[in-house]
Amino acid sequence: MFEYKNNELYAEGVRVKNIVDNVGSPVYVYSKGHFKAQFEKFNKAFSREHVIAFAIKSNSNLAVIKTFASLGAGADIVSKGELFRAIKAGVDTSKIVFSGVAKRDDEIEYALENDIMMINVESEDELYNVNRVAEKLNKKARIAFRVNPDVDPKTHPYISTGLKKNKFGVPYEEAYDLYLKAKELKNIDVYGIQFHIGSQLLDTTPIYDASVRVADLMRRLTDKGVEFRVVDVGGGVGIVYDEKTDKEPDVNLYARQIEEAFRDFDVKLVLEPGRFLVGNGGILVSKVIYHKTNGQKNFLIIDAGMNDLLRPSLYKAYHKIAPMKKTGSKAIKCDIVGPICETGDFFARDYEIEDVPNGNFIVVFSAGAYGFTMASNYNSRPRPAEVLVSGDSYRVVRERESLEDLIKGEIL
Ligand SMILES: *Cc1c(COP(=O)(O)O)cnc(C)c1O
Repeated sequence: MFEYKNNELYAEGVRVKNIVDNVGSPVYVYSKGHFKAQFEKFNKAFSREHVIAFAIKSNSNLAVIKTFASLGAGADIVSKGELFRAIKAGVDTSKIVFSGVAKRDDEIEYALENDIMMINVESEDELYNVNRVAEKLNKKARIAFRVNPDVDPKTHPYISTGLKKNKFGVPYEEAYDLYLKAKELKNIDVYGIQFHIGSQLLDTTPIYDASVRVADLMRRLTDKGVEFRVVDVGGGVGIVYDEKTDKEPDVNLYARQIEEAFRDFDVKLVLEPGRFLVGNGGILVSKVIYHKTNGQKNFLIIDAGMNDLLRPSLYKAYHKIAPMKKTGSKAIKCDIVGPICETGDFFARDYEIEDVPNGNFIVVFSAGAYGFTMASNYNSRPRPAEVLVSGDSYRVVRERESLEDLIKGEIL
């Protein structure tokens, strides 16, 4: 949905230059058409009853959440704030699942009051706490345990979550006893089982391996009278960042593997994709401010920083970067860096790119997931605007922050 026509980048039918001219830079630009196409691809892959709970931490703009909600998606939330957003965007609360290791009482209360599908419990402490909060509200809390299946998703260590050494979920060996304990609690409705082993998985076989382990646990628990109504296999399906090395995962294979692993159970499936739905549906457009050479190194200095897009700094993540308008200038090898006072403030290192003159724009691709949601005000920089393109038109769906926004709530 982001394509060059006559050497100029378009987002669907809109010239990206028109957007930066009107909205300024840096700016996130999203393609609604891409979001819809990814959703449909994912949705069609499953033949069993399922709910696609969009992981809204990947992109929590209200207009983006609403795009998926109107296609029938639910939401995977990790905080009260995300639940608030999901409700504001019109997500059906019966399709919301709540993940996270540290849910506070007020968050559990808010979830129960809004009657969400289920709370994914990550420890024994949390189980008793959810029971206690539910009792106070005179409710029965539908829960799943997030089980840590101890399989290696072979992804970046920071986004790998299903290994024994990770903080997430309950250990596979302990889950059996926990389910039996949960079954006895008055204000707990044992509803499902969940796992999420990591993110940016280009090979989904580890999800299949985890499914097989979890299905085995379910068989043993079914024998003890536990009735599962939902299996939630988390998210994690990856996207192509680097066309030279990455291969898009086969979602049809992914769906078949999951359905095969749970074929013996009469359950509804829940999927929690984030990145897959939004990652390649967003770009970050930024202006080149200066060129600079220090000894051996060339720098392209742009007006976006790590506060706007953290992934390269945090994960050394690769993002394809290219000029917004291709002019045929000579390629240079350079570090593409931002204005932040940190050496870690870079988008790419030793990167070959067609030279872009000062004042012209470059585009960081695959910025739709974990882009704006990880943005901060570090160095007192207002966060960028977000724009949603649909066909030949676009809309600002989040205004650029102002200087006044920066000091909102501060007291002299
Ligand atoms: C982050 C997260 C997701 C989404 O992961 P993606 O890699 O973006 O698909 C889903 N479920 C849980 C529990 C998560 O923490």
